[in-house]
Amino acid sequence: TVALDADFFRRWLSAVSAAVDREAERLTELDSAIGDADHGANMRRGLAAAVAALEEEAPSSPGAVLTLAGRRLISTVGGASGPLYGTLLRRAGKVLGDQESVEPEQLREALHTGVEAVAQLGSAARGDKTMLDALYPAVEALGDSGGDFGAARRAAEEGAAATVPMRARRGRASYLGERSVGHQDPGATSSALFFAALAETAGT
Ligand code: ADP
Ligand code: MG
Ligand code: MG
Repeated sequence: TVALDADFFRRWLSAVSAAVDREAERLTELDSAIGDADHGANMRRGLAAAVAALEEEAPSSPGAVLTLAGRRLISTVGGASGPLYGTLLRRAGKVLGDQESVEPEQLREALHTGVEAVAQLGSAARGDKTMLDALYPAVEALGDSGGDFGAARRAAEEGAAATVPMRARRGRASYLGERSVGHQDPGATSSALFFAALAETAGT
């Protein structure tokens, strides 16, 4: 198995950035149906800035990598997704502290804390048709499977797909009320990319 060290976390975030670049048009298209058509651009800008900062500062622990990336997302993304993902990464980074390398179970715990912080910041819960509908199932699958990143990826993708019939209760999509039904949530879709990139980076 691969060591979950600072280099792994840097490669993970680079893989997220690459996936977001590839999928930017789709994210924007989803956001044009139930939002303001900027999710692809927001995520691209934020992750490019995060990856650039990681290259420049080369933080030496997983916790420091996540904390720096989270700070950059918050400072470069104007939309709701910046502070939400930024909070997720910063809180997870804080849980990991300054250890040189972490176990999958520690990553699960850190992500769980980060996801709870997102829910608190956004006053959102599962079923509100947000990124949480992909994030919670992914973190749970990580626990249930004993750290299988492939299982987390599948759970995130299923969670994102499950937002289609939901009615949005948080974020811009909630302004549409009933008309938000029938579209996949952009943020849940980008959350699935984080877990796809994690599985890819771990080679699972
Ligand atoms: P904005 O809506 O400000 O343009 P983005 O388009 O980048 O920002 O991100 C929209 C995504 O953010 C939504 O699809 C949803 O997943 C997520 N989101 C928005 N508001 C909330 C919230 N209050 N709680 C959790 N997630 C949210
Ligand atoms: Mg938007
Ligand atoms: Mg916007």
